Amino acid sequence: MRCVMFGGYTAQKHDRLVTTRNAFRPAPARGERLNAMPEADRDAARRAEIVRLAGALNERLIAIRRDIHAHPEIGNHEHRTTALIVDHLERSGLVAKVLPIGTGAYCDVLPGGFEDSTGLVGLRADIDALTIPDGKAVDYASKNPGVCHACGHDVHTAILLGVGIVLSRLRDLDLLPRGVRLIFQPAEETSPGGALDAIDGGVLHDLTEIYALHCDPRTDVGQIALKVGPITSAVDQVNISLSGTGGHTSRPQLTQDIIGALGALATMTQLLLSRRIDPRSGVSLMWGSMHSGSVANAIPRTGEIVGTLRALDAAGWQLAKQLIPELAAEIVRPFGVEVDVAVTEGVPPAVNHARGVRRLTRAAEEMLGPDSVTATEQSLGGEDFSWMLQKVPGALGRLGVRTPGEICPDIHQPNFVVDERCIPVGVKVLAGVATTFERPAI
Ligand SMILES: [Zn+2]
Ligand SMILES: [Zn+2]
Repeated sequence: MRCVMFGGYTAQKHDRLVTTRNAFRPAPARGERLNAMPEADRDAARRAEIVRLAGALNERLIAIRRDIHAHPEIGNHEHRTTALIVDHLERSGLVAKVLPIGTGAYCDVLPGGFEDSTGLVGLRADIDALTIPDGKAVDYASKNPGVCHACGHDVHTAILLGVGIVLSRLRDLDLLPRGVRLIFQPAEETSPGGALDAIDGGVLHDLTEIYALHCDPRTDVGQIALKVGPITSAVDQVNISLSGTGGHTSRPQLTQDIIGALGALATMTQLLLSRRIDPRSGVSLMWGSMHSGSVANAIPRTGEIVGTLRALDAAGWQLAKQLIPELAAEIVRPFGVEVDVAVTEGVPPAVNHARGVRRLTRAAEEMLGPDSVTATEQSLGGEDFSWMLQKVPGALGRLGVRTPGEICPDIHQPNFVVDERCIPVGVKVLAGVATTFERPAI
């Protein structure tokens, strides 16, 4: 065993489960035999190999996931994570390209005789962590204070690495029927999201379809939850800043009550929105932060309230953006304060294509069994994979991470945990959807 240091990441080179770059070679004899098989037998051989490898890789992928979990990095700073991704892909004889922005990477796995005109299927994982402390007492807890993989992107990354290893093996066995691009996308938790930088970096070129999975604490491990149409929601950030002349709290008549105005904004804005927009639009404005003042006897000169605007449908989303500045100005008018409203566009809803959901459903049922797919609802959460689905058809699926019978803490919480049996499940489903051909509609 030897160790290699790069990007702050120590790569341990040990016996490899599958082929290496040096061993990159023409299809082995077994592949030649498989090549002569009827298509149905090749399908069965492919599925059996995916299942076998997902099991054989389990310990290695859990170790990778825990390594990433122990070393979380926030959006656009995922340097160690990117080095780890590149290293593990190289161990399987794959060549990864780091994105032009410096973090994140993509990697094409191509069968012999691949022609560009065939197009590629894309599989995407997000790789960034959150500025949330890790509240778990485990030996792989975050070593980066105040930063944690509380959204499961460590799991997504480990799964997609596992898929890369599986696909490289299928390629060597001449069982890879099509070209696949693995996309390790940075900065999903930022707004409007690292997906836009990844798209600018060319990750969608030549793709004909694209898929992703996201950890879901409300679905049992072993299941995939799917929905045709919008599965996540539009999310914008709202910042309202107030200013006045400030003064002594003994003479409020001579100045403007900034904190009183903030209180009115906090309670009235959502109420008034709900009276001006069709409730079926599912518009939600929730405040996450409010700041003003520093001492008991001074009226502050400035204050700010910050929150998120979410909407299930595009019409309600557009109307809310238009109304919030008007309503905020009306709400604070009696206080005589100056008001400045900024609504910063975040992400649109992620809209699943019907064909993409059919293909994910088929892959899950073939790889996991007939009862492995469950229905889900559109959430008010945002997801920047939506930008990719606007350009390439496909689907986002929810990956069950809850241990059956137990309560799983929500994502974005310090105590969020996953049942790691979700890792081979994700490997099988994504490797399955990347390697099965379209059949008549279900
Ligand atoms: Zn998240
Ligand atoms: Zn996430």
